Amino acid sequence: MSLTRRDFLKGAGTGAALGGAVGVELGSAEAYVTELKTKGAKEVPSICYYCAVGCGIKASVADGKVVAIQGDPEHPINRGTLCSKAQAYIQVLQHPNRLTKALYRAPGAAEWQEKPLDWAMEQIAQRIKATRDATFVEKEGDVPVNRTEAIATLGSAIIANEEAYLLAKLGRGLGIVPMEHQARI
Ligand code: SF4
Repeated sequence: MSLTRRDFLKGAGTGAALGGAVGVELGSAEAYVTELKTKGAKEVPSICYYCAVGCGIKASVADGKVVAIQGDPEHPINRGTLCSKAQAYIQVLQHPNRLTKALYRAPGAAEWQEKPLDWAMEQIAQRIKATRDATFVEKEGDVPVNRTEAIATLGSAIIANEEAYLLAKLGRGLGIVPMEHQARI
């Protein structure tokens, strides 16, 4: 049942006036109570992916879909609070333009094609290998440098400490020099 502000004030005013006059509780407000969208939903703890603060969130999930998000009051970092970015989180999750599949545009092509994620991963690995092999420099003069300046990495605030550690290890192992992070951009 939809309730306008005018309906609510009318109902509350009438209820208060009559209730006060005859001394009974009319319960008119109950008629306007709508069902919460979180009714029957399961609360799933998670971490906000927007920045390195790593606030705890509680996602209410019903029928496999996130229907509400709030700060986790038991999380030691944010203790139930969330900034405006996380408050808008659900809009990102449910946005019709959100990408959920890997898209590939071949060199010179105008159209994007949907590809399986495994295919995209394989392509990335092959191109990193080919680029590294073609550009690897072992020495600069007599000084061993063992690097490629043709590849860079860009970290994301969504990755955890351990993933950032592994990304740095991988980058250094490949001889990558420029390693940046999203939080500084
Ligand atoms: S809620 Fe805000 S401050 Fe906390 S991790 Fe998300 S973006 Fe960062």
